[in-house]
Amino acid sequence: TVKTYEDDNIFAKIIAGDLPCHKVYEDDKTLAFMDIMPQAKGHVLIIPKQKAVELSQLEPEYASAVFMTAKKVMAAQRKVFERDGIMQMQLNGAEAGQTVFHYHVHLIPANFHELGKH
Ligand code: 5GP
Repeated sequence: TVKTYEDDNIFAKIIAGDLPCHKVYEDDKTLAFMDIMPQAKGHVLIIPKQKAVELSQLEPEYASAVFMTAKKVMAAQRKVFERDGIMQMQLNGAEAGQTVFHYHVHLIPANFHELGKH
């Protein structure tokens, strides 16, 4: 069963402007900002301005908007971090490792062949 959306989750507060973030892009349906604990340099999170806990609750117009924003962010990451590899990750449910229960997509500049070798 999917958790109930909680209006006081961290990302809801970021959308509302009640918590600061390092914003990289915003439009009427999405917000993109730097992850506070990056898994690699340039780790960005993209969220819809919709009350969705996870993928199953995401409305088509917001799903579309999130992925259009992801394309913009990815292009910027490739330029800024001179990395060809951009990993897209998105966790659904605590069991999968989801810790913030407002839908979000991770975009992580990464070299797959270097992962786990640190
Ligand atoms: P999840 O495991 O739910 O897919 O990922 C949640 C992500 O949100 C983590 O990568 C974590 O570092 C990030 N995060 C948690 N709290 C904050 C916050 O207050 N600000 C920002 N910018 N990122 C956060």
